[in-house]
Amino acid sequence: MSQTIRPGSRGCVILDRDGVINHDSPEYIRSPEQWQPIDGSLEAIVALCGAGFAPVVVSNQSGVGRGLLSADTLERIHARMSEAVATAGGQLSGIYHCPHTPENGCGCRKPAVGLVRQMERALGHSARGAPLIGDKLSDLELARGVGARPILVRTGYGETTLATLSDPAVEVYADLAQAAAALITETTR
Ligand SMILES: [Mg+2]
Ligand SMILES: [Zn+2]
Repeated sequence: MSQTIRPGSRGCVILDRDGVINHDSPEYIRSPEQWQPIDGSLEAIVALCGAGFAPVVVSNQSGVGRGLLSADTLERIHARMSEAVATAGGQLSGIYHCPHTPENGCGCRKPAVGLVRQMERALGHSARGAPLIGDKLSDLELARGVGARPILVRTGYGETTLATLSDPAVEVYADLAQAAAALITETTR
């Protein structure tokens, strides 16, 4: 038996970028060529789409504010990411980023909620109860701030984050592929 699943009918899944979708670098990802997907992450995004989730990316990119890469280069990096997802057979519903440094005191650098509010306004999806998958404490704090469901992956800075984590409400998975598989198989909650 098969049924047509409407894209986004299960709401959004909020994804951090660096350390979740692609390999992170302490030197920042500064060019499209340096953007390299973590094994299984593209397929995971495709699977989420197929299961009715709308994947959105919410990412701190202070390298822009630090002058390490231009806004234009960041756009090209995100074009490469969108293309990679599309080639694999999926679609990102949105990519939201904060270009500021911590010193800017903006309202969009995670764990501030600005990017998620932008996403909610633009797409009409609520973050409340939506899975939010990240590798840093700032992702988990953001999840708490918007009432999303905090999920930690062990890729990127995940192992380091896990070592300092004391919140039993946070679900932990090896990587995005495992987190996505778990979300897809569970019944709607
Ligand atoms: Mg990250
Ligand atoms: Zn910002």
